[in-house]
Order: sequence, then C-alpha cells, then structure tokens
Amino acid sequence: MIDPELIKKDFPLLAASASDGRDLVYLDSAATSHKPWPVLDAMSDFYARNNANVHRAAYDLGRRATEMYEASRDAVAAFIGAPARDEIVFTKNTTEALNIVAGALAWADAPYRLESGDQILVTEMEHHSNLIPWRLLAERTGARLCHLGITDGGRLDLSRLAEQITPRTKVIAVGHASNSLGTINPIGPIAERAAQVGALVVVDAAQSVPHVGIDVGTLGADFVAFSGHKMCGPTGIGVLWGRTELLEALPPFLSGGSTIESISMDDLVFAAPPYKFEAGTPPIAEAVGLGAAIGYLRDIGLDDITDHTRALTEYALQELAEVPGTRLVGPSGAVDRGPVISFVLDDVPVERVRTALDQAGVAVRSGNHCAQLACLRFGVPATVRASFYLYNTPADIDVLSSELRTIAPRTPRTVRQTTGKEPVM
Ligand code: PMP
Repeated sequence: MIDPELIKKDFPLLAASASDGRDLVYLDSAATSHKPWPVLDAMSDFYARNNANVHRAAYDLGRRATEMYEASRDAVAAFIGAPARDEIVFTKNTTEALNIVAGALAWADAPYRLESGDQILVTEMEHHSNLIPWRLLAERTGARLCHLGITDGGRLDLSRLAEQITPRTKVIAVGHASNSLGTINPIGPIAERAAQVGALVVVDAAQSVPHVGIDVGTLGADFVAFSGHKMCGPTGIGVLWGRTELLEALPPFLSGGSTIESISMDDLVFAAPPYKFEAGTPPIAEAVGLGAAIGYLRDIGLDDITDHTRALTEYALQELAEVPGTRLVGPSGAVDRGPVISFVLDDVPVERVRTALDQAGVAVRSGNHCAQLACLRFGVPATVRASFYLYNTPADIDVLSSELRTIAPRTPRTVRQTTGKEPVM
C-alpha cells in the first residue's frame, strides 16, 4: 500500500500550494506525469558534476557521462525484462520510437519490405502517434491500412482476428493501454495470430509501462515504444525496444554521427544496434533522469502503484456514476483498464467542463486526446479526460466529482455508458 500524501511530498510542484492557497488537483498524468526530487536531482547532478558528451571522449569526465548514460540503458532493460541491453534504443519519445520502426520498414529489404497489397493493421483506438506513421507507410508502399474495431463496451473487437490477420498482414500496430478510453488491450491473442502469419507486432506502451509495467519477454511483441515523461521521468527521452535480429536487419530511419562503424565514398557500415538508431548527440541528462525515475518507481513498487491507481479508478468510476448526466466513453469497469477515465456531461460542451474545472484548480484534459478515431466511434467530438498516478488521492477525486456536480445539468438522461449509438450533446 502506498501513501499518496507522503508521495506528493517528493513532487515539488504538487507539494507547493497554488498561489491562491489551493492545492493543485492534477488529473492529467496521461498527458505527462510530474517529476520527483530524485529525478530532478539526478539531472542537475549530471549537469553540475558529470556533463560531457558520450561515447567519444577519452577522458575521465566523458567516461563518467558514458557510464551514466549506459547505466540508464541497463535500468530500462531490467525494468521491461529485455533479454539484452542492446535491444534498448533511446529516442526522443514514443512518437519518434514508432516513426523509427515505420521509417525502417519503408526502406527495408526483403523479407521486411512491404509491397502493394500487403496489409498494415492498426486499431480504432490508436493514438495518432501509432496511426499516422502507419498510414504514411501504407501510402509509400501501396500497402492497405486496416483496423480492428472497438466494441460498444469500449474493448477491442477481437472476434474476427483470424480473418483480419491474414498472410498479407505484415505489421500489426496496437496500443497496450488506450490514452482516450482507458482500455488495456490483450496483446497475447494478437501476437499469437501474428506469429501464425509472420506479421510484426508493434506495441505502443506509452500508457502501460508507467502504470502496469510490461515484460517484453512474455508480451509477444517485436517492438515496444514508450516515453519517459509519463513515468516520472523528464521530457525528451523515450524508448524503443526491439528484438535483436530485427534491429540488426532493419535500416536506420535517422542517420548521422554515432550511427556508423565506417564510411568511405563507396562503402558504409552501420554500427551495431542500438547505436545505429541513436543518431547525433543523444538526450544524455534525460536518459540519466529516466534511470532515476525507474529507480524511484521500483523503490515504491510498481505493483503497489498499479493497485493504488486501480483503486482510485474504481472510486472515480463510482463517483462519476453519481454525477447527473455523466456519460462514460470507454469500459465501465476498472478491470483491464488503466487509470484513465473519459466522459462527457449531457448538454454541456467539454470545453466548458474543462474551463470550470480549471477555475476550481482541477487540471484535466478535454479534446480528442490525439485519438480521433475512438471519438468518432462513440459519436463524440471530444471528451473530458481525468487520469491518475501514484500521487493522486481519493480527496482529488472528491474535488473532481463535487465540481462536476455544480456543472452538471439538472435533468439528466439515463444512459451511463455511451455505446456510440445514442446522440451525445
Ligand atoms: N501513445 C499513447 C497511447 C499516448 O498516450 C501518447 C502520449 N499522449 C503517445 C503515444 C505519444 O507520446 P509522446 O508524445 O511522448 O511521443
């Protein structure tokens, strides 16, 4: 069990009261999490005592910087159960990690080259970062972009998996946890069917690694992408995990300094992975910060964090169900869902809800959350999204629900969970 009131003290921005004396109720960790002192200290200590470029300086400071950068790679590898440290590629964020895979496949030789008539499968609940790179890849190669739909209950529709994943399917790009609906998707059955037809499975784990964690040894994916800034780490650092044989076989999407072993006017030999994918000076202090974030999450215990945010989600679902006119967009239960709740209030535009909450010191997000297909599926242009992390308390949710009660219309409709079949607002 974790004590979020104690944990809040580790986060300077949350510990400090707002200038008007009210505490900030931060319910937007799905967008980015706050950073605890150990992360801030690790980064400032790096700059104050160990700053140098990595992999090139033959002097003590440079060696220390390189050791710290590479120690973070070890920390990431251990955190996600990677069989080899060289399978961890540092990127700018999830988006860049996914583009590295899609870009590599655009230029790949056989057997990874995509051809006209091949199929790329995404899902209707993808974040645009795991949708647009595949759409562009389809346009560039003549492949067809297809999708797995969403059920009325906000789950991935896997009922036609055997038909939808065919020998022409080359890539399946799926989000592990949806940032708009909250759904946690089962990767197992998708990976099993993918293995039967030889398709690559690319998992966007931006919303799962911070909350439920992953073990790439058992997940069944070929590539996994996530961002440091959603897991108490800094912005500017993300991770691409890929199977060694794939990282060895695929060409880099970005190239330049640090990516090559040797070059002449006639010849070019790329460095071994992960370096062939880490072009230019990498985000060194950010990698050090990510390593510290992983240490922080590990010290608290990811299982305890998962239990805490699941309990908060359950409580928030109960509380929101009591607010007149609230319509949930996503699964109704707290099982197999991350700490993300999207909803609309009947007859109240989402911007008005967000602005009213903002005025009450509650930070939530409104919009389509870069997952427009999911909004379209449920017939809503936008939702209000509340998301939780280790530093949130039941009291934060009480503030949210009591503020919503003041905004909610007086004559509610009765539908509690939207299926996309009834009109909204
Ligand atoms: N995928 C999902 C599911 C996300 O929630 C996000 C961030 N909202 C991203 C991808 C993109 O992450 P980043 O902006 O860090 O690249």
